[in-house]
Amino acid sequence: MKTSSVRFHHIQDWSHKERLQRCAKALQKRDFATSYCDNRAKAAEYLLKKIPKSGSVGIGGSVTVRELGLIEKLTKRGNHVIHHWKKGLTKTASREIRQKEGQADYYLCSANAITLEGDIINIDGIGNRVAHMIYGPKNVIIIAGYNKIVLTIDEGITRSKDIAGVMNARRVEAKTPCAKTGICTDCRSTQRICRVVTIMQYCPWQTDIEIVLVNEHLGF
Ligand code: SF4
Repeated sequence: MKTSSVRFHHIQDWSHKERLQRCAKALQKRDFATSYCDNRAKAAEYLLKKIPKSGSVGIGGSVTVRELGLIEKLTKRGNHVIHHWKKGLTKTASREIRQKEGQADYYLCSANAITLEGDIINIDGIGNRVAHMIYGPKNVIIIAGYNKIVLTIDEGITRSKDIAGVMNARRVEAKTPCAKTGICTDCRSTQRICRVVTIMQYCPWQTDIEIVLVNEHLGF
């Protein structure tokens, strides 16, 4: 019998939506604000309404934010956007830009994993992203596709290395085993990019954090 994958999309959508909505409820119990968008276009539209045109915006290292085209969209309408994924930056310039991102009015990033119980897990190499998420800009917006949702903290840490870490190592052309094999071996490489692990269990005081959950596969 011939079957078409299209026939099953509504079941996948339903499953992802249920998980995202359960995750949203758990995050709200941890003092995080949440919102839900059906797809990346709606998420971008929502964020362009939420962020004032006068606001400066720092961008964390995030494939998700770039997949939404937010840097181009915000810049085009006049926001001051600060981001460091630029080729040829000196170490000093790279550090200065990262520091400025943390002084913006808004900070946009994603998470490496979020549990169904509302824990937000991240692994950084430098630590600017996790530092700014916790204590930097007053307004932090974390955008996460359904692929970031996990059951447990352990699964979240594994995902952060095995999936996000491996792909990020490949993206930056790190000389780590995973960038060649696609598998995390919890390496001891001098170029290891997984150096700082954070688990946000409640929204930190003095930072307003909103998680925008999107029913689409986004980022690493
Ligand atoms: S192999 Fe090393 S750099 Fe790659 S994901 Fe694992 S710990 Fe991170």
